[in-house]
Amino acid sequence: MFALTRLRLPIAVLIAVVFAALLALVAFSSTAEANHSWGGYHWARTSNPFTLQLDDNLSGTWKPYLATTSTDWNKSNELDTKIAASQNTKQCRPTSGRVEVCNSTYGNNGWLGLAGISVSGKHITQGYTKMNDTYFNTAKYNKAEWKNLVMCQEVGHTFGLDHQDETFDNKNLGTCMDYTNDPDGGAGGASSNDPSNEHPNTHDYTQLSNIYSHLDSSTTVGQTSAANKTPAAADEADLDDEGPSKWGQLIRQSPDGRLALYRKDLGGDHKVFRFVIWTENAHQLNGKGRQVS
Ligand SMILES: [Zn+2]
Ligand SMILES: [Zn+2]
Repeated sequence: MFALTRLRLPIAVLIAVVFAALLALVAFSSTAEANHSWGGYHWARTSNPFTLQLDDNLSGTWKPYLATTSTDWNKSNELDTKIAASQNTKQCRPTSGRVEVCNSTYGNNGWLGLAGISVSGKHITQGYTKMNDTYFNTAKYNKAEWKNLVMCQEVGHTFGLDHQDETFDNKNLGTCMDYTNDPDGGAGGASSNDPSNEHPNTHDYTQLSNIYSHLDSSTTVGQTSAANKTPAAADEADLDDEGPSKWGQLIRQSPDGRLALYRKDLGGDHKVFRFVIWTENAHQLNGKGRQVS
């Protein structure tokens, strides 16, 4: 009896050690992979690093957030962003080879932030992002933490990045590509000491390295001629206020439905994707607002 117990203990310890090692391996490989590109879509370019122009169509209060986002993403080895003067209006019509960044009171349409991206084959040809001041002017969202999260995430989508996590009420991962109800981390939300989700993290830069490791034989960055390759895409931004019925297919949404991805096929291999962050109360809207299945 005594001998048996003495034998069992080391075996139990051994099993526990092996199990812990396996768990560590699983945890390591799932985070190390950093696989959060959306379908492998990327800007075509013939050399790295490349510089993507972000057109500043913002009012004064938003400009510092774009500056922060630009600086943050420039830590990528492959990608640089350059902020340029406004080309555009609050309608935010996309411009070939660039990303338009806009804010306005777009109305009670349910979306807090939106990124629209045109693709031709696997190549991104143009993008735009909109911050909806109708909601950012309210007490809940009129905070630096929310503005940083949404600006950083929507611009991140235009590079080909997807969300790292879509559950809003779990611990922050420390990246703006993680949706949260507590963007600045710390007190509030799921944890009292989780990191801020207002900026990218190293997994985002790793993912950008994966997406942009290869070079293409042509470029879609800064190309004005790309306009001809994306029929009707220039008018797409006008449909944002119309709601999901004009956005093509809902191809994915988060468990709580607050993040959604729509794809509209424009014929040939041309598509427009919309990444949408709905507000907390968007489910109360009907008609023009969010459609709930
Ligand atoms: Zn390519
Ligand atoms: Zn998003």
